[in-house]
Amino acid sequence: MPDYSRLVFESWNELYPDKPLRYPVKLRYSGHFKGFNASIVLRGGVLTVNLSKNWRPVDPSIKKGVIQELMCKFTKDRRKSSSIELYKVFLKHAHIGVPKTKSDPVLDASFDRVNQEYFSGFIEKPNLVWSEGINRLGFYDYGADTIALSRILAPHQELLDYIMYHEMLHKKHKFKGSGRTIHHSKEFREDERRFKDAARLENELSRLVRRHRWRWSRLLFG
Ligand SMILES: [Zn+2]
Repeated sequence: MPDYSRLVFESWNELYPDKPLRYPVKLRYSGHFKGFNASIVLRGGVLTVNLSKNWRPVDPSIKKGVIQELMCKFTKDRRKSSSIELYKVFLKHAHIGVPKTKSDPVLDASFDRVNQEYFSGFIEKPNLVWSEGINRLGFYDYGADTIALSRILAPHQELLDYIMYHEMLHKKHKFKGSGRTIHHSKEFREDERRFKDAARLENELSRLVRRHRWRWSRLLFG
């Protein structure tokens, strides 16, 4: 068995000691992922784990964690393991090693305003980029430590800051508590409502989105 596959095999056996794996396995490193993203897929009867190439130099015990986390998704299981815990700690700190190379003066200014006003300047600056897509107003990519905000927000400073705030909350709240990550927890929503004039801004956002003929839904926030 090639070394790569052995790691997947071992990850399974540690997670499910009394449940033999029914598929041949494969591990691939891919340049298509950002940050420390990864996926698992059953294709042609082979259980394939795809890891971002950034995973290559990482310690195998942490790699086992990401593989086991993917396996839990695959089996729809909520099992925990020490490797999974290790992986979560790793991911929480992984952003420190991500080079901060992307920024933009408008996004930069928005970030600084919100950071001062609502976080006492405590949030470390991530990569900041505009997104051109029309699916989401904003999202935070943990692995790449990048906040992306839709360009349609650019002319509307208050709305821009409001969505920036939402994405910064993701950075602040990430991986809080144990078990499954809840993206918009009760705590998160409470924090979100602290933004000045949040209710009015929600209305303005929905109008902006309608003007752009987007289907309005809370899911527009990543
Ligand atoms: Zn969100």
